[in-house]
Amino acid sequence: MAADVFFWPLPETTGAELAPPDPRPGLRRLVAALGLEGAARGGSGWALKVHLGAPGRPAAVAPAWAREVGAALGGAAVPGRPTGTFATDTLSIATRGLDTPEALRDAARAKGFRTPADVAGQPDLTFVVGDDPAGPPDLPVDGLPGGGLTGHTIAGALATAQGLCLLTPLRPHPHLGAAGAVAALGLDLATRPAKLRLHQGIRPQVDTPLCAGCGSCLDVCLYDAIVIRGGRAMIDHQRCTGCGECMGVCFMAGIAPEEAAGLAAFQVAVATAAAATAAALGAAYDHPIAYMNIMIQLDSHGMAAKARRRLPLPGIGIVASRDPVAVDAAAFALLTERLGGPLNQWSGFAQAPGALLDRAEGLGLGSRAHRLREV
Ligand code: SF4
Ligand code: SF4
Repeated sequence: MAADVFFWPLPETTGAELAPPDPRPGLRRLVAALGLEGAARGGSGWALKVHLGAPGRPAAVAPAWAREVGAALGGAAVPGRPTGTFATDTLSIATRGLDTPEALRDAARAKGFRTPADVAGQPDLTFVVGDDPAGPPDLPVDGLPGGGLTGHTIAGALATAQGLCLLTPLRPHPHLGAAGAVAALGLDLATRPAKLRLHQGIRPQVDTPLCAGCGSCLDVCLYDAIVIRGGRAMIDHQRCTGCGECMGVCFMAGIAPEEAAGLAAFQVAVATAAAATAAALGAAYDHPIAYMNIMIQLDSHGMAAKARRRLPLPGIGIVASRDPVAVDAAAFALLTERLGGPLNQWSGFAQAPGALLDRAEGLGLGSRAHRLREV
């Protein structure tokens, strides 16, 4: 059955030369279209999963946008309530400066979020490290009907909420092609150890003739898995975690996964984790999970270096649904239409997210068939 996907389009006149428009009116309309206006009233806090993005750049989901969604839900400003609505993100396995609780909190502050310590009981939306080892214990989400996933854990902070809205900037991903709501559920809510487990079959290789020996990949690798020998990069697979960070910075697109089998297994595992996570949280929360894919600054977040040279690409808008598969299918279709070609023209990565959505749909997470309804 076709799922409803609500679409707030950016004005056609938005161009790369203009500052990105303020999407807050669109976010309000989308919360209303999803039937969730006031859903957090009465003290039930919601978790708003944001994406901080790389250190040194503006937040991929601005604090003002999260506050707007929190205010529309009705639970953003509850003085002194540690379990009120909060913004959250999880520890990165790939990006320096987002990989420890202290670093993630510092990055959040630098991007304009306030932590509970900054707020000190004042009414404001706070930023919480979702899988902080000093916070609530990790949540196990095993038990997907049919099996296929063991030992998966997600951010413990989600247990302190009674609703969840995923505010996901659509972004290129080295192993998925593009990451939206399904990737946010399966990967971005996972704890750091669970993320490492999902990546363990990925073995990146350097395409030696393409390598210019620039060292950019070596600089970003958190695991000291890359050396330059004879003017070319080499990867030590004893150390490599498959995180993919090196693939995004190579201007020559000289690093790619060794074989398709590892990528296909990764996409299946992420879809399975997404289905298990949605089942576990859907059963725990008062409301269905809300998914918003944000396509505002398509040219600035996590883009592979090779693709970044070809853009700018104007923003498209925001799509929202209660169905994560439908909202991804809608976002990918809108982007493909805008590009006039396949998604990898935008991402710079060879992979496409088709297997991820196939598997997610097969597991009953949602339906790619959708009705796009403008708000
Ligand atoms: S970033 Fe690319 S070109 Fe530069 S050393 Fe690494 S593999 Fe070679
Ligand atoms: S070499 Fe491996 S661990 Fe290092 S950045 Fe690349 S994928 Fe990640």
